[in-house]
Amino acid sequence: MVVVMKKDASRDQIESVNRVLESFGFSGHLINGVNRIVIGAVGDRQAFASLGLEALPGVEKVVPIMRPFKLVSREVQDHPTVINVKDARIGGEEITLVAGPCAVESLEQVMETAEKAKAAGARVLRGGAYKPRTSPYTFQGMELEGLKILHEAGTHTGLATITEIIDGPSLELACRYVDIVQVGARNMQNFGLLKAVGQVGKPVLLKRGLSATIEEWLMAAEYIMSEGNEQVILCERGIRTFETYTRNTLDLSAVPLVKDLSHLPVLVDPSHSTGAARLVGAMSKAAIAAGADGLLIEVHPDPRKALCDGPQSLTPDAFTQLAGELRGLAAAVGRTVPLPDQLNGRKN
Ligand code: PEP
Ligand code: MN
Repeated sequence: MVVVMKKDASRDQIESVNRVLESFGFSGHLINGVNRIVIGAVGDRQAFASLGLEALPGVEKVVPIMRPFKLVSREVQDHPTVINVKDARIGGEEITLVAGPCAVESLEQVMETAEKAKAAGARVLRGGAYKPRTSPYTFQGMELEGLKILHEAGTHTGLATITEIIDGPSLELACRYVDIVQVGARNMQNFGLLKAVGQVGKPVLLKRGLSATIEEWLMAAEYIMSEGNEQVILCERGIRTFETYTRNTLDLSAVPLVKDLSHLPVLVDPSHSTGAARLVGAMSKAAIAAGADGLLIEVHPDPRKALCDGPQSLTPDAFTQLAGELRGLAAAVGRTVPLPDQLNGRKN
């Protein structure tokens, strides 16, 4: 349910609604809208009806949320959520470019990629330190050493950093070293992990599961938000279909649909969705045209030697060229792709 407060509702009136909600076991989430305050309340619907909230001073109306996801929903919050991490404004007017290798391999590899990605306009550096691989015999990631490398490259360049976590211990360590934690496609319905990331004070990027419906994906985001973490970024990374020429099938229709259903930022990963570097440019452009708030692109200084996902990785030069092409396209849809010298309030 959403409790819509009157425009002139006082602090006391808002607090007393919250007190009633809490005393009946509901969790009230205060949302500061552009024009008024609304309180999103999650709990049993029938019990809610008996509270008589509409009679309380300052309450304009009580609106039921029909969708199974609540806090994630546009019905609770109609303005877009913008997540600020270092210079990145994820979900704002600016298209956020997240770039970096599939896996952290060495300090030199990450540092070179970070510097070149930053110079091309990226705001966030990615790199896997814990790799959930299909085979247990392939490279599993540098783990703690990888996190330290990401941290060093982030500090050196000023870029925000993101890495995938796979369990409780990796989450705890990642929170010490990086700015954003990523829940990978294979873990999208790992409910224990979703609850755990819901309790950390870092933004979470939630990838869509390999065969997840949009509703399942949004319900996974609801798990995170219901634990108190409101900084959730969604990422469409392709779904499994019968097609074999691409690694996955990029579901671009999910972008405008999810933007309509939810206030959360939506990024697109053209690397894992296609599996082919030569398709990344076209899909990146299509994603921006479809309304994506950013792109997560794998970039490696020498893709042929990459320990992981080389065939889908761009060289730093190709990434720089693509970022340039995206600027013109973004302008056509009222967005911007930052130039490296456009810093959001940070001196560097
Ligand atoms: C990744 O981003 O490194 C990754 C493994 O992606 P996904 O979970 O989408 O497969
Ligand atoms: Mn990868």
